[in-house]
Amino acid sequence: MILIKNIPSLQHLLSSYKTQGKSIGFVPTMGALHEGHLSLINESKENSDITVCSIFINPVQFNDMVDFKKYPRTPEKDILMLEQANTDVLFFPSVSDIYPKGTENESAYDLGEIEHLLEGKFRPGHFQGVCRVIQQLINIVEPDTLYLGQKDYQQCLVIKKFLKEYPVEVSVCATKREENGLALSSRNMRLSDSDKINAAALFKSLQYIADNYKETDMDELIKNAKTIIESNGFSSIDYVEICDKETLQPVRGSNYSAKAVALAAAHLNGVRLIDNMLIDQA
Ligand code: AMP
Repeated sequence: MILIKNIPSLQHLLSSYKTQGKSIGFVPTMGALHEGHLSLINESKENSDITVCSIFINPVQFNDMVDFKKYPRTPEKDILMLEQANTDVLFFPSVSDIYPKGTENESAYDLGEIEHLLEGKFRPGHFQGVCRVIQQLINIVEPDTLYLGQKDYQQCLVIKKFLKEYPVEVSVCATKREENGLALSSRNMRLSDSDKINAAALFKSLQYIADNYKETDMDELIKNAKTIIESNGFSSIDYVEICDKETLQPVRGSNYSAKAVALAAAHLNGVRLIDNMLIDQA
């Protein structure tokens, strides 16, 4: 694996691959890597000639600076994991590489209503920050394919929409989970072993919704899903919602569709966890 910290060296290397006609797959991450990240690397390795991973904890997507400071950082372990996964290139830029003019926001992107729903409601400005870093990284790497995890469902929708005019394909990969259903997440490092058992309630609540989904009683489903979460030690729930797969508008009444997505975010011992599940009752 080639580890590169600065943009000119990365672009020099990538342009030599591109002139050889090699396709570039790109996996952006914030480090503290786990098997979920590696599944994206593997997907890229299967479908692209060269796999580039980036590790960059993007300060502008955190609306809470305490959360940013507490974000797990395990660079040595990350490098080992990426080497073992035969990643071709690791890009490890600094904040000043990505934001040479500083992190202050110049102008906002028009991301539509989806920006303000669910995650956007609880993390104002989050998707503006996500799109800022994606724009920078895509302009630097110029990949053929961007590999994202369904784990961050709303992020996938926002990025797909944002990159509509860019010559890059977006590939969304399935969520990797612990045996008990808990979605792998860098934030799980801050959970104790017993927390991890309780944390699976988030998955179980979504599974409950998917198993019992039908046109009526949507509010009842959500109420019962919340009870599953609350009775497993979660201190608060930001949301549990059943939404249209594309717009993320709540699926109710005339908006009902046999296909939908259930999404949830909740706090367990100071750690905010999110998860989602696609529903198909067609
Ligand atoms: P992050 O480092 O949290 O920014 O995540 C980097 C990428 O890995 C994003 O596209 C995530 O959606 C994806 N990802 C995170 N957790 C998982 C998981 N459990 N399974 C699959 N992909 C994941």
